[in-house]
Amino acid sequence: MTKRTALYPGTFDPMTLGHLDILQRASHLCDKLVVGVAINQAKGPLFSLDDRVEMVEQVVDPFRDRIEVEVIPFEGLLIHFVEKCGASMIVRGLRAVTDFEYEFQMAGMNSRLNPDIETVFLMADPQYQMIASRLVKEVAKLGGDVSQFVTPEVKARLKDKYS
Ligand code: ADP
Repeated sequence: MTKRTALYPGTFDPMTLGHLDILQRASHLCDKLVVGVAINQAKGPLFSLDDRVEMVEQVVDPFRDRIEVEVIPFEGLLIHFVEKCGASMIVRGLRAVTDFEYEFQMAGMNSRLNPDIETVFLMADPQYQMIASRLVKEVAKLGGDVSQFVTPEVKARLKDKYS
């Protein structure tokens, strides 16, 4: 049987409980999960690429009992990275209508670029749908409690950044 590989790309600046929920759910849809950490210098990430990779590595470890997992930095055209990984699907999370328009257009572009690759959208869990990395950073910067939005590990990293 052919191995089903899924790619979940993102910036993960930082990784949130929303990302973790998508990762967990995606891990049940494939035999191999590649988490693509976008280098994304243009977005001016708060965390270094190494930090962002580490944050993802720490949470995906338990999945390795069931499936193969790789966490790989990438830059350039997403579809080229998907092809390089041998993935047949791109996993994205959808939080709200505001995500929809951009994601719908991206999925359309990617399907034109390579019709064999399917984009699969997972609806955000209602308890996590308000979580966005950008807002988590804002709350942390202003001294708010981010425990409901990130793992204790990421919370400590945010505290270090803003102390
Ligand atoms: P990008 O720069 O690719 O948008 P992000 O790290 O912000 O990177 O998001 C990666 C993916 O995770 C996107 O598909 C985004 O919609 C999804 N995502 C982010 N936060 C959540 C959340 N709270 N619930 C579900 N999906 C989410």
